[in-house]
Amino acid sequence: MFKVNLSCLLIAGILMFSWSFKEAKAEMSTEALKKTIEKLRPLHEKLDKPQPGDWLAEHHEPGQTFQEYLQCKPVTPRGKRRVIYIQPLGDFTKTQRRVVNLTADFMGLYFNLPVKIKDDLPLSLIPEQARRVHPYWRMKQILSTYVLDAVLIPRLPKDAAAYIAFTASDLWPGMGWNFVFGQASTRDRVGVWSIYRNGDPGKSESDFRLCLLRTMKTAVHETGHMFSMLHCTLYQCCMCGSNHREESDKRPIALCPECLAKLCWATKTDPIERYKKLVEFFEKNNFKKEATFCKKSIKAL
Ligand SMILES: [Zn+2]
Ligand SMILES: [Zn+2]
Repeated sequence: MFKVNLSCLLIAGILMFSWSFKEAKAEMSTEALKKTIEKLRPLHEKLDKPQPGDWLAEHHEPGQTFQEYLQCKPVTPRGKRRVIYIQPLGDFTKTQRRVVNLTADFMGLYFNLPVKIKDDLPLSLIPEQARRVHPYWRMKQILSTYVLDAVLIPRLPKDAAAYIAFTASDLWPGMGWNFVFGQASTRDRVGVWSIYRNGDPGKSESDFRLCLLRTMKTAVHETGHMFSMLHCTLYQCCMCGSNHREESDKRPIALCPECLAKLCWATKTDPIERYKKLVEFFEKNNFKKEATFCKKSIKAL
């Protein structure tokens, strides 16, 4: 029997301790971020009781407040490891390529980190034993764990905070699974996500935006995991786990106040400056709802 579809698979890793006394003087103090949380709280919707089939109905997770995050000795993009590397893997159509490039831009703004796109790698790097045709659905798939272990880890740049492959091929993570949208390893700072199931961005302008939004959501959710952010269980939040497409489409791309404080602390980011840059991106790319939400957040701060 195949298990239900899983949107996000995280290899538990040993979280590295990257705090140093000097770096404690972040641009925003912990106390200032705690005040930020309180100001933003009224704008965010609490999570409802999970419906059967939802992530939290099947995974009993404890959640993680900002305070708990600080206590877990999180991995943060500090010191020399500050660059998010994007690795295109395999062929993309012109519009799919636009999705990858815009997602890379968005990740830079979301995490306030430099993003570099590496030269393409061909799918021919994936050997026969790391490929299959899905036994019922008949689509071609590549083994996500092979991409992490054999493609990304040996090529991991020294200054990478995260090294992430994007592919247009469908992914599966091994025996017993149907597919995954993405998979990441916190220990090794590598991840792979697929745009295969995000719709056809070449079909229409609205399909393009849907595909882009889904791709950006997966990208920032998984990268959040790389910086030790666990699944959110408090609010409708980009860091919530999702078990199926309907659930992930319902989630906002915005972070709840607790998760936002984690990101701003980890990346030394001023929340207002971040929201301003996101407004610009969302307006330019016609994401009206998302831009309005960021503007409301700026006002509340
Ligand atoms: Zn996740
Ligand atoms: Zn959250």
